[in-house]
Amino acid sequence: MKDIEIAQKVTPAPITEIAAKAGLSAAEIDQYGSAKAKVKLPLPRKATKRKLILVTSINPTPAGEGKSTVTIGLGDALTKIGKSTMIALREPSLGPVMGMKGGATGGGYSQVIPMEDINLHFTGDMHALTAANNTLAALIDNHIQQGNALGIDQRRIQWKRTLDINDRALRRIVIGLGGPTSGVPREDGFDITVASELMAILCLSENIADLKKRINRIVIGYTHDREPVTVADLQVGGAIALLLKEALRPNLVQTLAHTPAMVHGGPFANIAHGCNSVLATQAGLNLADYTVTEAGFGADLGGEKFMDINVPAVGQAPDAVVIVATIRALKMHGGVALADLGTENVEALNQGAANLGHHIRAMQQYGVPVVVAINEFTADTDAEIQAVKAYCANLGVEAVLADVWGQGGDGATDLAETVVKLADQASEFKPLYAASDSIEAKVNAVVTKIYGGANVEYSGKAKRQLRSFVKYGWDKLPICMAKTQYSLSDNPKLLGAPTGFTIKVREFVPKLGAGFIVALTGNVLTMPGLPKHPAALNMDITDDGKISGLF
Ligand code: ADP
Repeated sequence: MKDIEIAQKVTPAPITEIAAKAGLSAAEIDQYGSAKAKVKLPLPRKATKRKLILVTSINPTPAGEGKSTVTIGLGDALTKIGKSTMIALREPSLGPVMGMKGGATGGGYSQVIPMEDINLHFTGDMHALTAANNTLAALIDNHIQQGNALGIDQRRIQWKRTLDINDRALRRIVIGLGGPTSGVPREDGFDITVASELMAILCLSENIADLKKRINRIVIGYTHDREPVTVADLQVGGAIALLLKEALRPNLVQTLAHTPAMVHGGPFANIAHGCNSVLATQAGLNLADYTVTEAGFGADLGGEKFMDINVPAVGQAPDAVVIVATIRALKMHGGVALADLGTENVEALNQGAANLGHHIRAMQQYGVPVVVAINEFTADTDAEIQAVKAYCANLGVEAVLADVWGQGGDGATDLAETVVKLADQASEFKPLYAASDSIEAKVNAVVTKIYGGANVEYSGKAKRQLRSFVKYGWDKLPICMAKTQYSLSDNPKLLGAPTGFTIKVREFVPKLGAGFIVALTGNVLTMPGLPKHPAALNMDITDDGKISGLF
């Protein structure tokens, strides 16, 4: 059965019931229809145990890893073994929904519902972000049109327009054509909304005051004298913040088994920081004993960014890390072609397990306990499962088989017991780098300790930028690497656990509002394109409103 068919068979419990289960009264939420709600701010604080579990994974392959599916299934399994649990996830972007990857609501019997709403317009957060982003863009161009009192150099404007759709034709555009009444012509471009600085800001803000402070800090471009121009200089921080007042509040939904789930904020992990909102995670910590959250793509991207960017904002490190692996993906890392993954191949699996081993060691450096979840596929054989367990046992880490896709929470009670055991141990979080380290030292730490690379090479432009960042005092910020998700290196074709490679940083993008410096490596694009056969081609809606083709 397709994911959507499984989801459509379950009637969501009234959201007031789910809120009550999470310890929220009707007065503490605003309902968006019968199955969705936004939680009012400030967040109430009711639980004291506050255990945080981070779900991350090996480098993704086209074979699929099922991180969201495991996150949701683990949440249901924790509920099943009697623990008060909250799930915190990112909200899907229409880019991958209409494009290739698909939705982000899990799969099989581990899903969050109503999946059609969550995958489409949900509570409107993405649209609010797009509108706020483009309002700022319009205000910048209007400032130039009206005399440019700040002396903004229109060739050095950093603030791009956004759209939450994969639209490669908008990557580079020229605006302001049509004569003096239609603006000042300049080059511009669109990023996908989930890669925008406003999305990162929304996800890292603690409250409206923090949101406004961060928006005011955004550097929108530079003057003709190369001095940074901020939103505060334009005096529009209040207007942009008010457009996001509803979007800032976490969204409450439920799993197929009615475990409460916060689905809020959705930055990609390759071109942005890849974690759901800090407020969604804090809502879980404040309300449940165990909060299970997922960071995007592999442990080299979402995992690292969770630890180095998100943990300081959440104010708490994970108590346990779950690394999701599949037998299929490990065989691909060991050189097997997609078409041959259905055949048992323990030798290739053992080779590909090096990718898993690398991520285990990378995450262990943070001082938190690690467990591997083998997301079971029907074609996995006993010999293959035993091989992964033995490989992990050699590294002193437990690997637990989870059939969350086929059985929901029932298929992951062993994993839940192991997670509880690990999370309840005392552990001491060790960050990868100190804020006072230079940007080069921070990039070097990520490349050598997390990716397993040998060197970092900077373009001439990146070197010049580093000098100016010291001048502006921006060198004390954390870094957010933009890198391909498929490989530990910046070459998507290099699978497994490559060594001796060099990461090339072609440019930095200062995101002062978000509070980090983005380092662009390889050919990562901030506006994706649609594939030859976009998922949109399979979608439909019947006359009476039944949706199909949403995976
Ligand atoms: P990720 O979070 O790693 O991107 P998802 O959890 O969104 O992955 O899963 C991607 C797709 O793979 C979903 O359509 C889901 O139904 C499918 N999937 C996940 N786990 C399994 C499994 N064990 N067996 C079959 N399909 C699965």
